[in-house]
Amino acid sequence: MDSPRNLQGDLESLRLYFRCGRTKEASWRKTQIKGLLNFIKENEGDIMKALKQDLGKHRAEAYRDEIGTLIKSLNYALNSLKAWMSPKKVKLPAVAVLTTAELLPEPLGLVLIVSAWNFPFGLSLEPLIGALAAGNTAVLKPSELAPACSSLLANTMTSYLDGNAVKVVEGGPSVGEQLLQERWDKIFFTGNARVGRIVMSAAVKYLTPVALELGGKCPAVLDSLSFSFDREVAVKRILVGKFGTCAGQACITIDYVLVEKKFLPKAVELMKAITTKMFGENPRETNTVARIVNRRHFLRLKNLLDDPTVKASIVYGGKTDEENLFIEPTILVDPPLEAEIMTEEIFGPLLPIITLENIEDSIEFIKARPRPLTIYAFTKSKTLERKLVSETSSGSLVFNDAIIQYAADTIPFGGVGESGIGRYHGKFSFDTFSHEKAVARRSFLVDFWFRFPPWNDYKLQLFREAYNFDYLGVIFVVLGLKKPKSDSHVV
Ligand code: NAD
Repeated sequence: MDSPRNLQGDLESLRLYFRCGRTKEASWRKTQIKGLLNFIKENEGDIMKALKQDLGKHRAEAYRDEIGTLIKSLNYALNSLKAWMSPKKVKLPAVAVLTTAELLPEPLGLVLIVSAWNFPFGLSLEPLIGALAAGNTAVLKPSELAPACSSLLANTMTSYLDGNAVKVVEGGPSVGEQLLQERWDKIFFTGNARVGRIVMSAAVKYLTPVALELGGKCPAVLDSLSFSFDREVAVKRILVGKFGTCAGQACITIDYVLVEKKFLPKAVELMKAITTKMFGENPRETNTVARIVNRRHFLRLKNLLDDPTVKASIVYGGKTDEENLFIEPTILVDPPLEAEIMTEEIFGPLLPIITLENIEDSIEFIKARPRPLTIYAFTKSKTLERKLVSETSSGSLVFNDAIIQYAADTIPFGGVGESGIGRYHGKFSFDTFSHEKAVARRSFLVDFWFRFPPWNDYKLQLFREAYNFDYLGVIFVVLGLKKPKSDSHVV
C-alpha cells in the first residue's frame, strides 16, 4: 500500500484480519518482532545509506541512535513478551470476598502510527514493536521528509512482516490528513504540536485514544562544578547531546544551557575547545555533524541567526552553507530572551547559553516556561538536585548525562503537558497499544444474604463494617453482639 489509493479497502482487510484473531496469538507476535529484528540486521548497510542520504548522519551515529537501539529494544521485547502478555492477579476489597480478579491485556485493534523524520527508523519502529507485541494490526506513515528511509520501510521492511497485518503508507501532510479521517483504535503521533492538534481534533470524531510525542525546549542546567575533570565530562556530554545527535534535530536534544554568571567564561572556553576537538576545525569535512533535513528548516534556522541581536551573541561557529544544508555547531551567549531562538524550539545545531546570577534561579527560569520533554542538570549539589526533582515538571529529568534516557526500556519515554501525551518504550509501548481488561470471577457456592434487598438497618450496619475493613465488626453484627446504628431519622 504505497499510496492510499484503495485506502478503505485496505483498512477493511486489516480490520477483518484483526477480527479473525490471528494477531492475538503469542507465536504470531513473536514472529513479527523477529521479522523486524531480521529487517534491521540484514539491512544495516542500506539503513546507514538511507540515513546518510536523508540526514547526513555518520554511520556510528546511525548505529548508536537507530540500528543499535532498535536491536536492543527488539531483543528486550522478544524476551519479555510472555511476561507482558500474561494476566496479572489483583486484590479485591473485603465486600468482594470469594471473588478473584485479574488484569488481562488485550489488543486495541487497528492502530495508526505517524512518525517524524529525525530518527526515521526509531520513531517508526519503537511504536510498531509495541503495537505488534500487543497483538494489533497497524498502518505506519513515515515522514516524507526522510524519503530514502521512508522507502526502505515501505518496500523492504514490509517483506519481513505479515502483510495482512501491517501496511506502510508513504506520503506527506495530505496523506496524513486522509488517514486521520478514518476510524482507528489508537493514533500514535510523533511530530510538532501544530500537527498534534490536527491529530487530536481528528480523533474526536470516533473518540479515538491518542498518544502525542511532541517537542519543545529542553534546558540543561550546568552547575559550576568544582573539579575540572567533572566540568569537562559535563561539557562533553552536553555537546554530544546537541551537535552529535542529528545536529540538534532531536526532540530531547539540549535546546539551551543555563549557567551562573561567574562560571560563564570557563564554560564558554571549555565548550569552544571541546567542540573543536570533537567536531574538528571544519565540521563539514570531518563528517561528524548531520546536515539540516531540508531547505525550509535550513532557512528557519538561518533566520534565527540572522536576527541582528542574536547574531551579536554568537561566540563560536555561525557559518551556514545553503547548498549543502549544513550549519556549523554554533554557540551563543545571552541572545535576547524575546528573540525567536529563545521562544521557539531550535531543532538545529545552535546552542544558546543563558546566564543567571545564581544557578538555583534556573528552577524559576524553567518553571516560567512550558513543561519540557526533558530537563538535564549537571551538578553535584544535592540541594539543587532535590529542588529540581521536587519543584519542576517534565517528561523526564536526567542528571549528569544527555540523551541516554532514549535508549532505556525500563523508563517511559514521553512528555507532560505541552510536550506530549502518553508514553512508550519497553513495556510502556506494549501498554500504550493494549487495553487492560478487568476480569473478575465468582463461584455460585457461598452467598451472603445481606447483599440483597429488602434493606434494613441490620444490613446497612454490615455494609458499614465491611467497607471499613472491620471484620470483627461484621462477625459481631452477625452474632447479634453489636446492634445496628439507628438511622431512622434519615429518609
Ligand atoms: P514531520 O514534518 O515529519 O511531521 C511528523 C509527521 O506528521 C510526518 O509523518 C508528517 O507527514 C505528518 N504530518 C504533517 N502534517 C500533517 C497533517 N496536516 N496531517 C497529518 N499528518 C501530518 O515532523 P516535524 O513536525 O518536523 O518534527 C519535528 C517536531 O517533532 C519537533 O517539534 C520535535 O521536537 C518533535 N519530535 C518529537 C519526538 C518525540 O519523541 N517526542 C521525536 C521526534 C520529533
